[in-house]
Amino acid sequence: MSLDDLSRDQVQSLLDEQTAAHSALKQRGLKLDLTRGKPSPEQLDLSNELLTLPGDDFRDAGGVDTRNYGGLTGLTEIREIFAPIMQVPVEQVVAGDNASLAMMHDNLVFALFHGVPGSEQPWGVEESVKFICPAPGYDRHFALLEEYGIEMVTVPLNDDGPDVDAVREAVKDPSVKGMWLVPTYSNPTGSVVSEAVAAELAALETAAPDFRIFWDNAYAVHHLTEQQTKTADILGLCSASGHPDRPVIFASTSKITFAGSGVCFLGSSADNIAWYLSHLGKRTIGPDKVNQLRHARYLKDVDGVHALMAGHRDILAPKFEAVVSILHDRLAPYGVASWTEPKGGYFVSLDVVDGTASRVIELTREAGVAMTPAGAAFPYGDDPRDRNIRIAPSYPSPDELAVAIDVLATSVLIAAAEQVLAG
Ligand code: PMP
Repeated sequence: MSLDDLSRDQVQSLLDEQTAAHSALKQRGLKLDLTRGKPSPEQLDLSNELLTLPGDDFRDAGGVDTRNYGGLTGLTEIREIFAPIMQVPVEQVVAGDNASLAMMHDNLVFALFHGVPGSEQPWGVEESVKFICPAPGYDRHFALLEEYGIEMVTVPLNDDGPDVDAVREAVKDPSVKGMWLVPTYSNPTGSVVSEAVAAELAALETAAPDFRIFWDNAYAVHHLTEQQTKTADILGLCSASGHPDRPVIFASTSKITFAGSGVCFLGSSADNIAWYLSHLGKRTIGPDKVNQLRHARYLKDVDGVHALMAGHRDILAPKFEAVVSILHDRLAPYGVASWTEPKGGYFVSLDVVDGTASRVIELTREAGVAMTPAGAAFPYGDDPRDRNIRIAPSYPSPDELAVAIDVLATSVLIAAAEQVLAG
């Protein structure tokens, strides 16, 4: 059923009923926040052992005093844990400080000032530089491009990754220098780049000789079900296709240990890593190795990472189930929305009636529930259909989350009914 199947009177009574519910919710003086994918305090508690590590034993396996300067590539013991997760040889993995976003920033800025291996000149002296942005996507990726005047070329994001035909068309333009991709459990739709799509992207002939795929695997091990989705081996696929320098792979422990004091990682070809380190060495003398050491001691090995992630799943999975179940109960009877049921990651992506997402966000705000602004998941904040809303269920308690999704569902129904009556 959709609202179009109802008479005007029936739509009006739905609007009256939901508006009354909305007013009652407003009276409660709620202050809830579904804006960002932050781990909850309970999730952070899982890693509290970090707070007492490394203690007095601050030397790494090679005897290096981690308190001192140096060690630009990061400690071997933490790189060894994440190299298999990133599917990159350990020699080609750099471990940094707490934000992979900062590594993405540096890669862009170094490319603009210096060009990358294979560039004819710095990207910044080209007449224009463009990046392909699968959308819906991660708003901070888009903000980085906007900050540095890199033009965004939007392509649709499907369940198995970006629309390859659209990408193939876009890369005919030599000013298209790269693309963003969140290969596993993307932000916000939870889509996973299939092996077939990854292979096509690896093999694409691009007009730019220095085309890069920024492969942001922020949610590589963040499963919400028993299904342990494996990310495509983009470095292997690109090397096999004769484009070994194409992928630049990012990851971090932000959603594994502490979001604000984790460790980030960069993996790529040996040439790209040498290039990155040569510029990084001007920016810093070395990363926070004490933090890297305590992470290595706490996580121990890849199995340690997976065991910790199972703890996160126990906390997160019921929250995602609650979101999906409330949306289903409240919205499915009216056919006014569709939503993702992700197998991992941090978000549920909700599509409401075209033209109503901004109104929905306004209504939730009036009732005390902060949501990510409508359009945030699109380049320039512009959702052409004004329909997409990102839900971040991780931070609120289960009770708060249930109330917030109820407010959201009420707002979706009001906006949909208003639109029918206005039309
Ligand atoms: N990439 C994606 C796709 C994300 O969703 C996030 C966090 N929301 C980040 C990167 C940020 O990672 P970090 O904390 O390592 O900077």
